[in-house]
Amino acid sequence: MKNIYGETHQQLEQYFLDLGEKKFKATQVFEWLYEKRIRSFDDMSNVKKTVIDSLNKDFVMQPLQIMDVLTDVDVQKYLFQLSDGEKVEAVLMKHDYGNSICVSTQVGCNMGCKFCESGRLKKRRNLETYEMVLQLLMVEEQLKERISHVVLMGIGEPFDNYDNVMHFIDIINHPKGMAIGARHITISTCGVIPKIEDFMKEKRQVNLAISLHAPNDDLRNQLMPINKAYPLKKLIPVLKEYVDETHRRLTFEYIMLKGVNDQKKHALELAHLLRGINCYVNLIPYNETSHIEYAKSSKEQILNFYDTLKKEHINVTIRREFGSKVMAACGQLRSHYEEGK
Ligand code: SAH
Repeated sequence: MKNIYGETHQQLEQYFLDLGEKKFKATQVFEWLYEKRIRSFDDMSNVKKTVIDSLNKDFVMQPLQIMDVLTDVDVQKYLFQLSDGEKVEAVLMKHDYGNSICVSTQVGCNMGCKFCESGRLKKRRNLETYEMVLQLLMVEEQLKERISHVVLMGIGEPFDNYDNVMHFIDIINHPKGMAIGARHITISTCGVIPKIEDFMKEKRQVNLAISLHAPNDDLRNQLMPINKAYPLKKLIPVLKEYVDETHRRLTFEYIMLKGVNDQKKHALELAHLLRGINCYVNLIPYNETSHIEYAKSSKEQILNFYDTLKKEHINVTIRREFGSKVMAACGQLRSHYEEGK
């Protein structure tokens, strides 16, 4: 049976039309699910019994199981167990502008980035739409506060689970759903070109972030196997087209790996690569993990890199560090948990 939290507003309208009902019932159901947050269809007091019976027959409302919550200053990390026993993580971060959540999109990941903990577990399956929606709902319930921003930067490659991710965005963005503004949602991808092209055609207001991490193909091939399929020399022109078509500013994520990609020559090369693209670079202090030998660049090195980019007139920010104490790098809590067993 399907889980109701995976149904978009449009799919529910179709469901009701097929039942011979009016499609506005979809709006009523969304209000009960996402505004009033009921736990049982039977609580929908303005919906007639026959409709409630149909919903009970066709859908479940089952939540995810919270296995663990780790808390640190301004950050909480959740470990969820899915109904088949698989585990994924979500991280809640408190900013001055609101609460943001980093959601997982797959169980494991096949992209194989050398520095990343998540990829140590190969993809076992895609997350279903409802499993992404429930990460938000359950964290809000625990936190007793609303989430204002969503980043798809947890375990998995969102563009390797494209359809479910788009449905997820439809649900959380819908005014009668969680009403999270498209501009408050960011998809992060390692650079799956065909899906970037599909996404471009959708003309959504959702932000796109590209995990770049290297300014040339040689280095990027070493760090990110995806670059062999979709090298920078193909990726960058597609991204230029993306900016032209959508008029949206791109984000480039750049993890600072000590001695690997953090030298002045890399900054200059990066500035050259991105010249003329409406974008900004987010420098990310690497979150070290015990399984992987990369080390984080020193504060000084990061600041030098930042200065070089600034001088080259590249927009650049340094990501605030969250939760290294609670193992906030994607995949760390899950793998820690599996080892403990
Ligand atoms: N697969 C997608 C989204 C998930 S990864 C992507 O590649 O963008 C989200 C971001 O976290 C990526 O930029 C990824 O490269 C980065 N990341 C992975 N491991 C990290 C670590 N240990 N420290 C800091 N950032 C990390």
